[in-house]
Amino acid sequence: MPRATGWLIVALVAFIAVFAPGSGRALGLSEAEIRKALEQNKQKQAELKNQSKRVTEALQANRAEQKRLGQEIRYLDLKMNEAETRLRKLHGEIARTEADVAKTEAALRDAEARIAARQAILKKRVRALYERGPVSYWEVLFGARSMGDFLSRLVLMGKVVAHDEALLEANRRDRALIAEKKAELDRLLAALRQKYAQVQAEKARLASLQKERTVQIAQLQAQAVDYEKELEKYDQQLSALVKEYNRLNQALTKVYWSGGQLAWPVPGYFAISSPFGYRIHPITKQRSFHSGIDIPAPEGTPIAAAEAGKVILAEYYGGYGNTIIIDHGGGMSTLYGHIRPGGIKVSVGQVVSRGQTIAEVGTTGLSTGPHLHFSVLKNGDYVNPKNYLGR
Ligand SMILES: [Zn+2]
Repeated sequence: MPRATGWLIVALVAFIAVFAPGSGRALGLSEAEIRKALEQNKQKQAELKNQSKRVTEALQANRAEQKRLGQEIRYLDLKMNEAETRLRKLHGEIARTEADVAKTEAALRDAEARIAARQAILKKRVRALYERGPVSYWEVLFGARSMGDFLSRLVLMGKVVAHDEALLEANRRDRALIAEKKAELDRLLAALRQKYAQVQAEKARLASLQKERTVQIAQLQAQAVDYEKELEKYDQQLSALVKEYNRLNQALTKVYWSGGQLAWPVPGYFAISSPFGYRIHPITKQRSFHSGIDIPAPEGTPIAAAEAGKVILAEYYGGYGNTIIIDHGGGMSTLYGHIRPGGIKVSVGQVVSRGQTIAEVGTTGLSTGPHLHFSVLKNGDYVNPKNYLGR
């Protein structure tokens, strides 16, 4: 009766007309074959979802591993920087120790030169005192003015030699100390060089480990791209399966209407208060299109399904008030409006038989009194119900 919501109904029915192409024979398959295909489709969907889940988990693990390796690389960076700092420090220590070693080597050479010089002097004096001693003694003796003079000269010579021997001994002690210091420095240098080699080896190990981790990350990244591609592929396959499933499922929708006459929807009440087509609207007083016929009847009068079919709408629906739409297949559907409150006796998805009571007459929505508004839709277009009712 009202027009405002009419286009919605048309859209709904058009949708059904497009997506419910008819019987399974339209696909060239028997119902059993379609049911089998639906079952297989469901299994494939489940398998795909499982595969997709596994790949998603693998991808998550991959990303976690990438993150872990990234952290390890940063840690290795720190360790390598530490090693570098230690190497620089060791390098400095080695250079200083090498300089010290060179200095002690020079000191040792000096000490040895001093010893050699002292030894030469002492040798000369001792030779003078002992080897050529008798001559010297006699020389000294006869050269002496007195015995006392001779003795004092002898004592003096002895004192000079003793002094030279003491100096030589001191020089030798010096050399021993310097040699000891040099040995100590040599040990230190060797230890430093060994430490340097160790740290260098450690740094090389860290660098090789870091390179290894970098390669691993690159491999993981490549693998992640593959996983993502795989997931995308699964999504596409799943979407295709869902479409196929819906197509097959629609094919199972039975065709209840095979072109014959529809049953009268209000048994016992045959008057038509408002016909199909353009008219002056009883409430708005405007010329408007009436999408069906109005059949007056007392509130609560049973409304019968005009044909077997599947209920696709059963709720308050704009100007039509409480409304039922039944899809009869073959592009045919019927609409029942202004049903009284609580008068809808069927639900969406329910299959009803021809003549079955589906509702009770009322005056909900835009209505002037209890009546059934009855519309017939053919392939989504309102058509004159009288052409299908035989009255
Ligand atoms: Zn009406």
